[in-house]
Amino acid sequence: MKQMAIIGSGPAGCYLADSLLRLIADASIDIFDRLPVPFGLVRYGVAPDHQGTKAVARVLDRVLSRDRVSFFGNVDVGRDIRLEELMSLYDVVVLATGASRDRRLNIPGEELPGALGSGAFTGWYNGHPAQQPPAIQCVRSAVVIGNGNVAIDVARILAKTSAELAGSDLSPDAMSWLESQPIETIHIVGRRTAADAKFTQHELAELGTLQRARPIVVDPTGLSGNGAVVETLRNFAQNKSRNVSLRIYFHFNLTPIAFLGDDRLGAVQFRSPDGATTEISAQFAVTCIGYETRPCGVANPTNGIFPNEEGKIKDRLYVAGWAKRGPSGTIPTNRGEAQFLAQKIAQEVLAGARPGRAGVRQLLEHRQICWVDYAAWRRIDAAELARAGGQRCRTKFTSLAEMLDAAQACQLRPA
Ligand SMILES: Cc1cc2nc3c(=O)[nH]c(=O)nc-3n(C[C@H](O)[C@H](O)[C@H](O)COP(=O)(O)OP(=O)(O)OC[C@H]3O[C@@H](n4cnc5c(N)ncnc54)[C@H](O)[C@@H]3O)c2cc1C
Repeated sequence: MKQMAIIGSGPAGCYLADSLLRLIADASIDIFDRLPVPFGLVRYGVAPDHQGTKAVARVLDRVLSRDRVSFFGNVDVGRDIRLEELMSLYDVVVLATGASRDRRLNIPGEELPGALGSGAFTGWYNGHPAQQPPAIQCVRSAVVIGNGNVAIDVARILAKTSAELAGSDLSPDAMSWLESQPIETIHIVGRRTAADAKFTQHELAELGTLQRARPIVVDPTGLSGNGAVVETLRNFAQNKSRNVSLRIYFHFNLTPIAFLGDDRLGAVQFRSPDGATTEISAQFAVTCIGYETRPCGVANPTNGIFPNEEGKIKDRLYVAGWAKRGPSGTIPTNRGEAQFLAQKIAQEVLAGARPGRAGVRQLLEHRQICWVDYAAWRRIDAAELARAGGQRCRTKFTSLAEMLDAAQACQLRPA
């Protein structure tokens, strides 16, 4: 058998496993994840009110259920097992660890309570066990910095009513927090022009359909070009009739230069191309400006990714997904890329009589590291679905202890 380890069970890792299974008849694939639960940003990034997109988890789940695949959840590579150890146990190792660190603006005031990165906020409203609630209340005005779909997600979740969020798997804590904020204005601010915005038309247009919110373009005369996004913004600018309690303002050509406030955020300061500065009052600001890959054991990223040549880092070590190319593209982008990388691996892999799964099990047992296998993950899944309640489709466990309890796989490791 050819022994393969994939680190990360997000779309990149699962699609790669699927492609490798198709191409290599004697591939045995182990997929590791630091969390007890799989699917990466499908579970913890994709917006909870977009269950249609999250449904791709079923496709990924089928990969984990395959005979020649084993899931090792709750195993952090770098902490529980070293990358070099995996390299000695497997013929091929692939980093599919995503890009989970929020890119920073590096401007004054970024640490103020009320200012946070989109990974922290979207992770929290999706129930990620490592993310904390925003430490503020009484948000009347929010600033969302960035002109991609994550900025739209953040604005939409802030703008939707509880009724509109029913049926989602938004965390109950996030629902209570959102319900208690008296939000009146949301400002989506981009550094460049509307024509440069990276929104997709469908996501953008959805903002025009919300019950209590209306999108407004602050300077419609600046809308140049004919793309679908600019056309949608023009429609927003023309459609002035709806009387609503919340306004979503689009600003372009504004560069953030400081978060202002004494002990918490009070405003965000921007500079326009002519050098003039302007302040937007805000108690809450979310930067949606991208993500960087974290180190994984000895592997260190440069410029937010693991340096690679078409997915290859060095002999027997590869990289896929956001860890390879940075935070761009959609979930299907990872599938196409996985097919390409699997072909490359299939051409290069040699069976090296390495112990693979048997060896890793022995090592984890020896270290008393409990892992969540596929059956245990399905128990977590079933328990989350069973406790959904009301109209919600799932109520996620938001602590590792709860997940491991539901997994019935092991005891928590000693501190
Ligand atoms: C807020 C947000 C919303 C999005 N919405 C959409 C959308 O609506 N539609 C769409 O097509 N795309 C969307 N995307 C993009 C999509 O989520 C990504 O394209 C995709 O998840 C990238 O896949 P990945 O496998 O590279 O990374 P990830 O999904 O991040 O998976 C990486 C996995 O690696 C694991 N891991 C990391 N480090 C370690 C380690 N040391 N040891 C073990 N495991 C580790 C992580 O726990 C995680 O499970 C969104 C992204 C974000 C951030």
